[in-house]
Amino acid sequence: MSDSCIFCKIIAGEIPGKIVYEDEVLIALEDVNPKAPHHYLIIPRKHIRTTLDLTTADNDMVGHIFQVAGKIAHDMEFAEDGFRIVNNCNEGGGQAVWHIHFHLLGGRDLTWPPG
Ligand code: 5GP
Ligand code: ZN
Repeated sequence: MSDSCIFCKIIAGEIPGKIVYEDEVLIALEDVNPKAPHHYLIIPRKHIRTTLDLTTADNDMVGHIFQVAGKIAHDMEFAEDGFRIVNNCNEGGGQAVWHIHFHLLGGRDLTWPPG
């Protein structure tokens, strides 16, 4: 837990969020500024600053994140049409919140390459 971290505050219930899935490892909630009809943030409960701070102890957690992303896409019925899982790392990679998270985007055609 980081006192200054907005995602830690959401996880602690101190700031509201539209949670669509949660378990002992992570939460998933609607992005406040969605970039697609389905845009969820999958956030581990453990405060990890960036992808570069992951260790082998986090391997199961990262695998679990991908499994949950697929489950949400399936349950919300956009899995078959296609979806994208994105992790932005550091400022040049578009990271704005310094608690690792994965964007799950779907519900429209997603172009490539991303901006
Ligand atoms: P990043 O740019 O760090 O990869 O993504 C941060 C994401 O968090 C952005 O898509 C932004 O809209 C979202 N976000 C920032 N603050 C909040 C918040 O308080 N609640 C929710 N639900 N999403 C947030
Ligand atoms: Zn945090």
